[in-house]
Amino acid sequence: MLRSPKSPPRASSQLPESCRLPAGLGGGDPRGPVPALRHPQSLASEGEEDELPEEEEEEAAAGKEGRAPEPAAAKKPEERSKKQQCKSLAEQPAAEHGPPGKRPENKPRVPVRYCTLGTRDSARSPQTLVEVTSFAAINKFQPFNVAISSNVLLLLDFHSHLTRSEVVGYLGGRWDTNTQLLTVLRAFPCRTRLGDAESAAAVEEEICQSLFLRGLSLVGWYHSHPFGPALPSLHDIDAQMDYQLKLQGSGNGFQPCLALICGPYYHGNPGAESRIAPFWVMPPPEQRPNDYGIPMDVEVAYIQDGFLTNDVLQEMTLLVEFYKGAPDLVKFQELWSQDQTYLDKLKGSLAARTPKDQSFTHILEQIYSLLKHSS
Ligand SMILES: [Zn+2]
Repeated sequence: MLRSPKSPPRASSQLPESCRLPAGLGGGDPRGPVPALRHPQSLASEGEEDELPEEEEEEAAAGKEGRAPEPAAAKKPEERSKKQQCKSLAEQPAAEHGPPGKRPENKPRVPVRYCTLGTRDSARSPQTLVEVTSFAAINKFQPFNVAISSNVLLLLDFHSHLTRSEVVGYLGGRWDTNTQLLTVLRAFPCRTRLGDAESAAAVEEEICQSLFLRGLSLVGWYHSHPFGPALPSLHDIDAQMDYQLKLQGSGNGFQPCLALICGPYYHGNPGAESRIAPFWVMPPPEQRPNDYGIPMDVEVAYIQDGFLTNDVLQEMTLLVEFYKGAPDLVKFQELWSQDQTYLDKLKGSLAARTPKDQSFTHILEQIYSLLKHSS
């Protein structure tokens, strides 16, 4: 039943053994003090796809709709990645998020289907969103089972709601080779800014220790598309392919790596509950090794936790503390939709993931009032 993904020629062979988990988290990577999942660009500097100035996003959307990117678009990926390398998100001017009063989040990003992508094309924006494919649609079995704890969703959903910028974090859990079950038990938010390599290393080292202390393995990662759909971009697909190869290891066969995308403020979602989409990447067909991997929809069983541990609550408080006073902190009193503030939206989304424990509700109310006053 298990199909080990065939690795494309790039990336895999250069990875040092010590990059593998659990022991290798954080050490041994010749590119620097980075943990196993750090991409050359690093997980913590992943994305920024929702941070395009409005005009660029408009152009990008127009290009997608017409299925023929304008020639000018060819320059943009380089320009953008330069920007990413030399500027931390915290340093970026507020204009990056669109002028006040204008609402870039309302601009639709039109996803494309994988089959329309064809071969790699450097003119195509890495921010292009791609529809996921179901295993059933291609007559294959999902190569592993996944169960996710509700506290994982609660914490990453909370994290994603806090800021208008993208956030990232790791997923801790266990992989059982006998049952082929990946259980995701804990989210570890990166309390760092995209592009801030220095603090990213420290934060990731802390997460590494946190995983170790709980006897958990690194089993995946998450990030947010603050105002966009929870679909992977081409950049996300490549990053996930790399992470899968890193976590897969070489000795004991296969260990999967799960990616979750949260779209907290996307208006295309029905209701207040954020869409949190799991995905996994199937390597491209053997005869076309340089194509993009195929983003696959992953079927997940959700486990409702009856209670929340103190460290999840503490993590929520630390996150509020971290984003307090930041220019991209969500203004929770403002309106997100006609009849809901951003705080209502957050509360509505978390309600479904919250244990019905009275003492917890009380603490959550305190966190909400902290948020109201810090934004
Ligand atoms: Zn993304």
